[in-house]
Amino acid sequence: MQLLRPDSLDSATAELGNGSVALAGGTDLVPLLRDRLVEAETLVELRGVVPRGVHDGGSRIGAGTTLAELEADREIPQALREACSLAASPQLRSMGTIGGNLLQATRCWYWRLKFPCFLHGGDRCHARQGAHREHAIFGNEQCASAHPSDPAAALLALGTAVRTDRRELPIADLYRLPTEDDRDVTTLEPGELILELDVPQPEASTYLKAMDRARFTFALVGVAAARTSDGVRLALAGAAPIPWLLGSPGDLDRATPLPGTAFKVDLARPLIRRALEALGD
Ligand SMILES: Cc1cc2nc3c(=O)[nH]c(=O)nc-3n(C[C@H](O)[C@H](O)[C@H](O)COP(=O)(O)OP(=O)(O)OC[C@H]3O[C@@H](n4cnc5c(N)ncnc54)[C@H](O)[C@@H]3O)c2cc1C
Ligand code: SF4
Repeated sequence: MQLLRPDSLDSATAELGNGSVALAGGTDLVPLLRDRLVEAETLVELRGVVPRGVHDGGSRIGAGTTLAELEADREIPQALREACSLAASPQLRSMGTIGGNLLQATRCWYWRLKFPCFLHGGDRCHARQGAHREHAIFGNEQCASAHPSDPAAALLALGTAVRTDRRELPIADLYRLPTEDDRDVTTLEPGELILELDVPQPEASTYLKAMDRARFTFALVGVAAARTSDGVRLALAGAAPIPWLLGSPGDLDRATPLPGTAFKVDLARPLIRRALEALGD
């Protein structure tokens, strides 16, 4: 395997495709390469190519900014700061970038153990009949995995726009539920790079996370809430194969939990109530 360190965006994008893969902090990608869940002959390092840092009073964030940098930046909205500070461990946050975090792979153990499940192109979801306590309560008809990113839910509630080397799109459109024809959970094209995030400043925002331990564990349910002049937006982590926008707290009544994930609906209700109280609503 070779590692390329391009010094410009143009040379990085020219190298991507043809079996090469973008490498940011490597905290998700390297284990996937080790376990042969991702095959690549060439890694293209993004450091020095993708923007890093927070600009314009906290509303423009480079995709190469680390979670540790974001959690410490008082200019960015509170929901994003809290989501970053509750993610992973200090060591992982100092390596892991926000771009990589949005594109991290599912933690579903069947997928990670290479079961030939729906998301791997097979014809069934092994988690539905198997162990699925950490899995989804929404959007789980074909694949019941739970999206692991805390910051993605915060960015969704905040109404973030994503700028890539090819287009600009609402963060909601970065994600898609896997279908028979296409098992991907993002809409990125091969070799497309996330460059920046445009994060509108809310009037108030917060992120609350229920976990098995108080630190260093993925969300059982994460609730992001943001109030803007248009109203309150709510989004969930750990609840669907993609970050999940809730139209209102009452949408929880339309959840489709599996037998082992019904408790997540009960976890989400008080979290949502506390999040709304924190916004003063
Ligand atoms: C033990 C453990 C616990 C964790 N706990 C949590 C948690 O509680 N909450 C949470 O939210 N996250 C958690 N994470 C995930 C962690 O935050 C991510 O692994 C990290 O943020 C990924 O960033 P990275 O820069 O290392 O990405 P990489 O591993 O380098 O890349 C990840 C993926 O993104 C692609 N990529 C990276 N940057 C770009 C870009 N700019 N454009 C296009 N593609 C890109 C890569 O090609 C790769 O496919 C955990 C991870 C581990 C290992
Ligand atoms: S939840 Fe998704 S990733 Fe896990 S076994 Fe089912 S189809 Fe595969």
